[in-house]
Amino acid sequence: MERNIEEILALVSGVVADVQGQGKPADYIPALSEVDRSKFGMAISTVDGRDFVIGDAEKRFSIQSISKVFCLSMAIHYSGEALFERVGVEPSGTPFNSLSQLDYENGLPRNPFINSGALVTSDILLEHLGSPNQDFLDFVRGLSNNIDVHYDERVYRSEFDHGNRNAALCHYLKSFGNIKNDISRILDFYFYQCSLSMSCIDLARAFRFLAQDGAHPFREEEVVSRLQARRINSLMMTCGTYDEAGEFAFRVGLPCKSGVGGGIVAIMPGEMSICVWGPELGAKGNSIAGMRALEFFVQKTGHSVF
Ligand code: GLU
Repeated sequence: MERNIEEILALVSGVVADVQGQGKPADYIPALSEVDRSKFGMAISTVDGRDFVIGDAEKRFSIQSISKVFCLSMAIHYSGEALFERVGVEPSGTPFNSLSQLDYENGLPRNPFINSGALVTSDILLEHLGSPNQDFLDFVRGLSNNIDVHYDERVYRSEFDHGNRNAALCHYLKSFGNIKNDISRILDFYFYQCSLSMSCIDLARAFRFLAQDGAHPFREEEVVSRLQARRINSLMMTCGTYDEAGEFAFRVGLPCKSGVGGGIVAIMPGEMSICVWGPELGAKGNSIAGMRALEFFVQKTGHSVF
């Protein structure tokens, strides 16, 4: 496989060049629109501890909704199955920040990877963490084995200043009794999570626990149980890429989670975790180059979960 990975990665830049210019970076959070749209990086971290990188794989970007997997993993570790009494496990089929779905479903978010679901998951975590922002950061630093991972204060501030819809979601959830803590504490914690700045290699390493049954990539401990890792992977497969999850399953066939910063992480269970980054997004909010690179990689390796 090793030679294969290197050979395939060497071809990826040519493949993504074909889709360059087809999308545009997210601009609803102003700080995100300032990114250089021509960037592209890809990193792989294998379960036997080897790393492969191409392009801008070491450049940091805003991980945005990819953070929802870290939030879920931490929360599921603390609260187990009880979490799913407050957040569902169905694809939403509506935009990630939809208010209307929450209304007709009585304040039960469809899944943990839409904003309402992550707000409830953050609320659950606040019950368990002494210093939420620092504990979350330490968790991610440990997973990526990089003490130099940080929140981006500018992105945080920009999210905060343009966070009316997330605030509305939070108030709505609270009106249904599905939020326990102070709304301002939850929003603060949620915006900080989204503002984490990481590189493809940081993320590929950090997500390796999901390719190895929940085992920590760098320590002799469990991040989540084997069953929980399986559950997180299935949620990534069905709900991880906004309302384009069907297209991802069809074309890539791996559990994936994307963010509007242009990053996508993908898991090949038992083998590796992959992170791709390209800031130009398609209509559904996923990186066009990232999706193309993953599709190509999976075609060439012949590995998917199907
Ligand atoms: N911070 C973003 C928001 O809440 C996350 C968007 C995303 O990556 O899906 O709107």
